[in-house]
Formats: sequence, structure tokens, C-alpha cells
Amino acid sequence: MLFPDFRQVSPLFVVLIALSTTSPSRADLVTIQNAGFEDITGQTVSNEFTLGTPVGWSLYDPNGVTSVAGTFTGTLFPNGTDFFNTTAPEGNRVSILFNRGAQGSGAYGYEQTLAATLQANTDYSLSVEVGNIQSGTSESGEFFNLDDFPGYRVELLAGGVVIAQDNNSLIITEGTFATSTVNFSVGAVHAQLGQTLGIRLLNLNVPPTPSGPDLEVDFDNVTLDATGVPEPASLWLMSLGGIGMIVTLRRRRRMQPRSADQHNLIASAKHLDG
Ligand code: CA
Repeated sequence: MLFPDFRQVSPLFVVLIALSTTSPSRADLVTIQNAGFEDITGQTVSNEFTLGTPVGWSLYDPNGVTSVAGTFTGTLFPNGTDFFNTTAPEGNRVSILFNRGAQGSGAYGYEQTLAATLQANTDYSLSVEVGNIQSGTSESGEFFNLDDFPGYRVELLAGGVVIAQDNNSLIITEGTFATSTVNFSVGAVHAQLGQTLGIRLLNLNVPPTPSGPDLEVDFDNVTLDATGVPEPASLWLMSLGGIGMIVTLRRRRRMQPRSADQHNLIASAKHLDG
């Protein structure tokens, strides 16, 4: 194997080459449509609620839950008193997945396919606010029993395949939101590289008690960060640059002229010898 002559290679040049072949190290926000559920275009407004599938999202409903009477999708404008102890984590509205009519019949929710694709050597971080709605009375005067929680799942997909998820790991207090985070690191190789990314937000629809309360999960403020990490080849080049710098510094130190005191000492020694 041939090793480069470090004396001939500018360390700065090597570091610059390494940096130029390294993926960006800053976190890039991946574009998600209507990530905060503020766009209610095309929805039916009903007091603090809107009804319909939120703009930019589609239904993921393999068991037909949302076709049953008594299930509603849409948004809610939390006022900080009814249903939630706070207002929306982002903007004014949160998405809702309300179910009175098809409890226990399978997970369902929203999904969105993104324009971005799965990239090699990248760390992904998907973050979503998940809400455990509490019982309350709506502006229309109707009381909703929303005790307990049917469970949630947040999924990150590539090419339609789930590659990472948070499967109901948070314990969320009634009337509050909690942040679900899904972290996923992609190395040089992955079966779904180059395939479109996707996000699913699911109500697990598991009844906590028989003939119990209505089942609802709410979501808000979906974000996806993608951070490029240096490829192994770039790391090798950067370490080469570091070695080169050390070699150069040592050479320069060795070639530095002697001080006046050192010259005098040497002259004195020669004089004594003579
Ligand atoms: Ca919002």
C-alpha cells in the first residue's frame, strides 16, 4: 500500500478536501405540508372543531375505522381550559382522531409522503406533539367523556416501509401534550436508500375499559430533522490532515533559528574547547 509523503502534502489542503466531500453537518428541516394543522382549507367548521382530513395529509385506515358513524377526523382549537389545560403546542389548532363508533377495530390515523428521500450517512429525528385529550364540554354544549387514552404510534417510513417508530412509549397526563421523538441513523447502506420518506400518526384505538369513554388522540407540530454525518472516507482524510499538520509543526519547530542565548552558549563552549 502506498502512503502519501506528508512532507509534500499541505495539511490545510487535505482538510479542505475532506470537508468538501463530507455531507452537511447542520440539521436540515425536511419539508412537511401542514405540519402544525393550521390549514383548514376545505374542512367543515363546527365551533372549535373542523371536520375532514387535514390538508396535506391522507387517511391511513386499513380497517375502515373512519367509515363507521361516530368517528371524526379534523382539528380542534384548544382554548386552554376545555379538553386541554394548554392551548395548541404550535399555532392555534391540533389534529384530532375521535372515535365513538368503531372502538377496538384497529389502528388508524394520518399519513403523509414527503418529497425528500432517505439519504445515506444521515441522522433523522422525527418529533411530534401527542395529546391526551381530557373530558370536557364543547362550545355547542355537548359533554364528551374522554377519560383514559387509547394509545398512539408515530412512524417514520421510507418507500412505504416503517423504518423507525415510537410505539406508545410516553405516558401522557390527561389534558396535556407530550413530545414523541423518533431518532434513526442511516449509514452507508440501507435497503430503502433513495426512496421517499413518509410519516404516520396513529390512534391505536385500544379501549382501556369495555363500553368506556370515547377514544381520541391528537397531534401537533410535526418536524423532521436530517443531519448529515461524515462518511468514513472523509473521516480518514480528515485524520490524514491532522497527521500532516502535526508533521509540519514538528518540522517547523526543528527548523526554528536558535536564540541569542543558545548561540552565546555554543560560542563559549567552542572557546573553552579551543
Ligand atoms: Ca397547530
